Amino acid sequence: MLIVQKFGGSSVADAEKLRRVAGIIADAKKAGNDVVVVLSAQGDTTDDLIAKAAEITSHPSKREMDMLLATGEQISIALCAMALQEMGVPSVSLLGWQVGMKTNSDYGNARIKTMDPERIRRELEQGRVVLVAGFQGINKHEDMTTLGRGGSDTTAVAIAAKMHADLCQIYTDVEGVYTADPRLVPNARKLKEITYDEMLELASMGAQVLHNRSVELAKRYGVPMEVLSSYVRKPGTIVKEVTKGMEETKISGIARDDKIARIALVGLKDEPGIAYKVFRVLAREKINVDLILQSIGRNDTQDISFTLAKTELEHARAALEAEQDAIGFDHINVNDKICKLSVVGAGMINRPGVAVLLFEALASAQVNIRMISTSEIKISVLIDADAADVAMRAVHKKFFEE
Ligand code: ADP
Ligand code: ASP
Ligand code: MG
Repeated sequence: MLIVQKFGGSSVADAEKLRRVAGIIADAKKAGNDVVVVLSAQGDTTDDLIAKAAEITSHPSKREMDMLLATGEQISIALCAMALQEMGVPSVSLLGWQVGMKTNSDYGNARIKTMDPERIRRELEQGRVVLVAGFQGINKHEDMTTLGRGGSDTTAVAIAAKMHADLCQIYTDVEGVYTADPRLVPNARKLKEITYDEMLELASMGAQVLHNRSVELAKRYGVPMEVLSSYVRKPGTIVKEVTKGMEETKISGIARDDKIARIALVGLKDEPGIAYKVFRVLAREKINVDLILQSIGRNDTQDISFTLAKTELEHARAALEAEQDAIGFDHINVNDKICKLSVVGAGMINRPGVAVLLFEALASAQVNIRMISTSEIKISVLIDADAADVAMRAVHKKFFEE
């Protein structure tokens, strides 16, 4: 079998943990498999590197930022190769460019275009475990790029897809995918399996256990994935196309996204073309918006509110303020102390009861809902950040503990 194993930052944080990881890798190798390993930077390394850049400048060049951030993963793979060699397991560490990980030039959030498995194949043929730096690639100018925070998962799935691996294992600091983040909801349950679609929705709604683009790739290429613990050796959660008993389960999980903010434009004219004027400005600035709410204001006016990534808040506010006269609004309200809570599940199609259960749980916990959005397999509500913990537990109780 060809197995791709990925270990996250906390799993490789220090020498002792690296040795444990090397033990897991060595076992897979000794069982007769070809093993390709993708590693993240150790512990908080990536955050520390971002902080170092901030000490120098508040507006670093994106190219240099990626040059800096890509260093973290290099440390992990070299150290892990040494740990394996120390155990008598032949191994070699390779950077993104050495495995032909070609990306576009969107520094900080680059997308993989191609991957050349040749070098990895040659090393495997020599009987070596191949350790690849996650999260990085090179663009057409042969400059370093990074794939976005949490992107090592996507490196692993890309390699698994290209090399037709039999399994892509994502080792992390929890035992699998749970019905909610087990750190926030102590009663969260581990799922045996989950569909790509549900996992993609959970990850996109803020469940950071998997990079959402890794799930997208896994679905597209049919890569079987397993999320499991690097601390306890037991089966984790299988992510695949179809799961058993899909019809019986209404929802598979609850996710929360704290990295969002809301902008409200108050006192817009109530006439055709207003929404276009507002969102045209944001589109021009390449700012993504998520939930949108249009509501009736006073004296023939209307208000438009929308959510966006917290990191884009100031950029969006400035762009809109610059166009205040052209758009024609009274003032802007912003709120960055909000969060989006989503319940996700393929089984909620044609089950109107799910929304009511969600609202009932929030009502009984005295949590105010500010916006609502629904799709075939999820319902999201916008709530105040300080109510998020209580809300998560109340909603989890309603769906999974009653
Ligand atoms: P790694 O460094 O291994 O990539 P991450 O921190 O990116 O790990 O992801 C693992 C974390 O994801 C867990 O520690 C957990 O707090 C969080 N998480 C959020 N939602 C879920 C969920 N539904 N199931 C499991 N973990 C979750
Ligand atoms: N080291 C990178 C990050 O912290 C990538 C990853 O861990 O997946 O975001
Ligand atoms: Mg991660």
